Amino acid sequence: MQKSFKERFPKNHRPEITDLEGFWNEDVHTLFRAFSEQILQKYDLRFGIPLWTETYGWTYRIGKSGVFLVKGIRMEENGFIVDGVTIHDKDSYSWLLAHMEEIYQQKKDYFLGRIAEKNARQSERNKARIVREKKEFASLQSRIDPGQYNVFCWPEKLDIHKLNKLYQSDARGIHDEVLVDEIGLTLYLRCKYGKEDAERMDKNIIRCHGCGSELGGEEDFRQCSCGRQYSYREYRRSYRRNNMPTGAAAKTFATFIEEWESAKTYQEKMLLIDTLLHEFHLSMISGATHRPVAMNFIDGSRERVDQIISQLARNP
Ligand SMILES: [Zn+2]
Repeated sequence: MQKSFKERFPKNHRPEITDLEGFWNEDVHTLFRAFSEQILQKYDLRFGIPLWTETYGWTYRIGKSGVFLVKGIRMEENGFIVDGVTIHDKDSYSWLLAHMEEIYQQKKDYFLGRIAEKNARQSERNKARIVREKKEFASLQSRIDPGQYNVFCWPEKLDIHKLNKLYQSDARGIHDEVLVDEIGLTLYLRCKYGKEDAERMDKNIIRCHGCGSELGGEEDFRQCSCGRQYSYREYRRSYRRNNMPTGAAAKTFATFIEEWESAKTYQEKMLLIDTLLHEFHLSMISGATHRPVAMNFIDGSRERVDQIISQLARNP
């Protein structure tokens, strides 16, 4: 007897999108993926981070920028339930598409208005913050060396041309050992520092980008013995802006780190890279994480990154 969704994913186990893949049969999962892709393409909507409820376990919401249009989507073994209807076959799926269209048209103005309000509030908060930080910065002026202050250098991102080249060679049966190492190492270093730096920052510590020393303390201003200087706050922001890998897919990144360290042959390495790319594609179409995982590793706009990943996923 298969466990129910709630038994399979208790409160302490928030399911990743890859876990959902394994939960349903192929038919339901195909519908779920098609639906995720449809709402993204047609309405620019995505699944938000699931919400725990005592009655149904993890439930899902569809929306954008933290404003949700459809809530309380439940998962069951035979399908996913939207507004009381179990989506499990062609007919129920057709209903779902019509239902989404109706909801979207009905609530569009209200929904987009809420997003605009939210953004406006955020922008007010940002202005107040900038004023505050300017004052703080003025008081630090005498200690700051502009050439050494907040010079950030995060591990490189993927070169998409090289990644394409690797896939093309592989498809022709050529094992490019140098390239597979280079790409794997790039992914590895981003995963590793993404994880380790996040763990440091949880303890209020940062890693100097000049010499690798750890800089702790209560103050926002951090001076390294090598000469570099940092604002702890700006360091954190830079980490986020650079899209260092962390957050909802942290488990996937941790697995990659561990397995890359022990991978020896070309095939093993290629498999690890391909598994991570599969994750990129899943997270892109499901939107289970706020940003597609691929953005942790590839530079470019969200649209551009989505396009690259779709291409690679279609022509492996
Ligand atoms: Zn240093």
